[in-house]
Amino acid sequence: MPAYTYECESCEDVFDVRRSMTDESPVICTSCASSRVRQVYYAPAMVGRASSGSASQAQAANDAYMNGGGGCGTSCGCH
Ligand SMILES: [Zn+2]
Repeated sequence: MPAYTYECESCEDVFDVRRSMTDESPVICTSCASSRVRQVYYAPAMVGRASSGSASQAQAANDAYMNGGGGCGTSCGCH
């Protein structure tokens, strides 16, 4: 069953939820039980254990991934 990462808009906690793709039941925050959560998309390798304080780091990694900076830089000889 795939895991999805959500960020709480109330307490800004980031947590993973394992659920079926067909499960449309509401997701609630594991910390404050708020239903104001939004799904975030991280690079698979960046998905780790959800813990407070890792959100900004994960976001930075996600930004690098989205900008094509994941892995090889311009100095890499693999291109
Ligand atoms: Zn919360």
